[in-house]
Amino acid sequence: MNSAVYPGSFDPVTYGHIDIIKRAASIYDRLTVSVLNNNTKSPLFSTDERVKMLKDICRGLDNVKVDSFSGLLVDYVKNNDFNVVVRGLRAITDFEYELQMAQTNRKLYPGADTVFLTTSLEYAYLSSTTVKEVAYFGGDISQFVPEEIAKLIYDKFR
Ligand code: ADP
Repeated sequence: MNSAVYPGSFDPVTYGHIDIIKRAASIYDRLTVSVLNNNTKSPLFSTDERVKMLKDICRGLDNVKVDSFSGLLVDYVKNNDFNVVVRGLRAITDFEYELQMAQTNRKLYPGADTVFLTTSLEYAYLSSTTVKEVAYFGGDISQFVPEEIAKLIYDKFR
């Protein structure tokens, strides 16, 4: 049985992430979407807030769980018996970093492979960072994130 994890910051979750979640959930028996609890990045949303957002989004996807983790991804992967790490690729700019991470992780723990899903073209430009920038200046983010997430983002900047 394939048990996959999709790790990320998800600060906040966008339609690009949601697309990857749905596609990965249709490929693997079980999928855990896991929020990286990374204090050095000073996120807009706390880990608990990001977990809650993802749980709301993933309700109805029966084989998807939401979790969070700190520390090394490979330790989390090993301790939870995941055999696949899912990451999304948008553009060539993602590739270099993702390749390095995947290879490092495989050296550290060969028990799991990283699998890349390429972005759906309509989300290729989309990143959490740009969504926050647009929202900060009061722009319309309705094409980038679901309505309930957009409300939470605007509330942060109020
Ligand atoms: P990171 O985990 O690098 O801090 P994110 O939380 O933004 O970044 O993204 C988690 C994963 O989702 C990464 O693999 C990233 O490349 C992917 N991703 C982000 N936005 C998109 C998108 N629009 N389309 C496809 N994949 C995406």
